[in-house]
Amino acid sequence: YISIIDIMRTISVLSGKGGVGKTTVVANLSAALTKLGFDVTAVDLNLTTPNLGFYFGYHLADISLHDILKNVDKLKDGIYIHPTGVKVIPGSLSVEDVVGVDISNINKVISGLKSDFVILDSAAGLGKEALTSLSVCDEALIVTNPEIPSLADSLRAIKVAEKVGKEIRGVVLNRVKGNRNEVSEEEIERMLGYPIIAKIPEDKWIAKSLESKVPLVYLNPNSRARIEFQNLAYAI
Ligand code: ADP
Ligand code: MG
Repeated sequence: YISIIDIMRTISVLSGKGGVGKTTVVANLSAALTKLGFDVTAVDLNLTTPNLGFYFGYHLADISLHDILKNVDKLKDGIYIHPTGVKVIPGSLSVEDVVGVDISNINKVISGLKSDFVILDSAAGLGKEALTSLSVCDEALIVTNPEIPSLADSLRAIKVAEKVGKEIRGVVLNRVKGNRNEVSEEEIERMLGYPIIAKIPEDKWIAKSLESKVPLVYLNPNSRARIEFQNLAYAI
């Protein structure tokens, strides 16, 4: 492995609200950066409701982030390399595995990684899991939908990120349908105080990608969401 850039960047993907597309962004941004030639590790730091593994087919992996957080020596065996080249540390779907997890070990996990980018999937809300993701990152990426509840929660996430002194890379506006009732881009940027660096449309290929366990950027060259994920990777 030859690093293209000599500093590893750890990016936390946050939203406040659940279901807005964090995991989708983590999977596809990781894949798009990998496609550009970077070494990328996607980590499922959503320990209570993990689902990054579904996007790559590692939802039933033998070693999960839960195991690694309990015993960091397991890290070397818990990084799964997807056929696309994306490295993935999935979570465990077993509820029992959450018991005894020491989330503070995430620092050791990240410092044990050798990648150009570490992309952290985060839990919804602003509880311990999301705050840990924020505390270990170099920069945060905010995912939101063009709707008031999602924007309000994103604003809370932004305020917390600012409070702990984290750089906010920008806003990813997801599930854009172009309806007249959507909040406008200008209004969103004004409300959140950060630029929209990618605008991902509502796209049925997201579901197809999930079904085939292959990120969209490797699946359909003509999907509009795919083009936007690639633009997001360029922006990052
Ligand atoms: P979160 O991680 O923020 O909870 P997910 O990434 O799991 O959100 O997305 C929630 C659901 O919405 C998933 O079923 C996902 O496939 C779907 N989804 C996300 N983004 C899009 C999109 N741009 N177009 C269509 N479906 C999407
Ligand atoms: Mg998620």
